[in-house]
Amino acid sequence: MNGFNSIAIDGPAGAGKSSLARRLSKELGYIYVDTGAIYRSVGLAAHRRGLDTKNEIAVSAMLPEISIEMRYNDEGEQRMFLDGEDVSAEIRMPEISICASNVSAMPAVRAYLLEMQRRMARTHNVIMDGRDIGTVVLPDAELKIFLTASAAARAQRRLLELQGKSVKADYDEVLRDKQDTSRAAAPLKAAEDAVRVDTSDIDFEQSAALLRSIVRERLGV
Ligand code: C5P
Repeated sequence: MNGFNSIAIDGPAGAGKSSLARRLSKELGYIYVDTGAIYRSVGLAAHRRGLDTKNEIAVSAMLPEISIEMRYNDEGEQRMFLDGEDVSAEIRMPEISICASNVSAMPAVRAYLLEMQRRMARTHNVIMDGRDIGTVVLPDAELKIFLTASAAARAQRRLLELQGKSVKADYDEVLRDKQDTSRAAAPLKAAEDAVRVDTSDIDFEQSAALLRSIVRERLGV
């Protein structure tokens, strides 16, 4: 529409969205936009201020006082800046995941971050992953993928990837998915025109090849 292609990838935590989106973006020469990182940055800001991350009034009042920026380094890697400080590593701390999920349920937070996400898609070819990309952020995306994997497959992969990651982290992820799916504002759900991809029984390389073939078929690139 604007001369740039957008590919939206939505799905629950741990379905492999980010690693697959990153791979696909390298193959296509598109920019990978990790929208979860943006919500994590707001969650971190609230956490640092000692706010109750479920308190919508307190979190909304914080928004005009903070600055969240998304920048890309020379390697094409997305970095997140909170008030000018690179917080890309800190937003990955396990306790920030649930803070991100809490603040992301608030319409004021979603509205605050919407334009930042849309602007990227207006000015670049993007692969954007998140929860509401196909439904809310980029409803006109040229291709929408809804990526899932069974709870068993996700748990198994996590075990292989992160030996020793606690049972609590596992539980937090289940809780977060439940919260993200059941919220009123932009809940996690597949867009009607999304291609559903279940990676439970295929490995990373097979999943990447499958996504690549869907892109070729749908976008001709
Ligand atoms: O993708 P990631 O796990 O980093 O996202 C952290 C949290 O941010 C999610 O649990 C979800 O609540 C929220 N999120 C969202 N909408 C998006 C991306 C992430 O609500 N598009």
